[in-house]
Amino acid sequence: MASFKMGKMVMRSLFGKPATLMYPVKPAKITEATRGHMTIDVDTCIFCGICQKKCPTNAIVVDRKGRVWSIERMKCIQCNACAVSCPKDALLMETTYTAPSAVKITDTFQGPPKEEKAPKAAAAEA
Ligand code: SF4
Ligand code: SF4
Repeated sequence: MASFKMGKMVMRSLFGKPATLMYPVKPAKITEATRGHMTIDVDTCIFCGICQKKCPTNAIVVDRKGRVWSIERMKCIQCNACAVSCPKDALLMETTYTAPSAVKITDTFQGPPKEEKAPKAAAAEA
């Protein structure tokens, strides 16, 4: 009985369709839940650096002074930990994949300049 089952498995493996797709030759199946690539609304980001700390692969670098957020695409494993931990909901998992590449891709997003706080005396006069 066991050998019959094994034979069936071998025949299925030999003549069945592969479980994988020939991506990128054939387009990938995209659903609402597909984890494609991480994106940021850099205008909402406060450059706190939490996402960088939470990222298990060190794909994210946050330059607090320069207000720059960057991600090394090939390091990202689409775990979504950064988006879950962001206090401003600035990160979003898009459903489309990063294009295959032979070189490492780093995407950099420049945030707007920090708003200067008005001096206390001036604020009191207003
Ligand atoms: S956790 Fe959110 S707000 Fe903080 S640096 Fe990352 S993207 Fe910006
Ligand atoms: S999805 Fe995961 S691996 Fe990718 S940048 Fe966010 S925390 Fe890092």
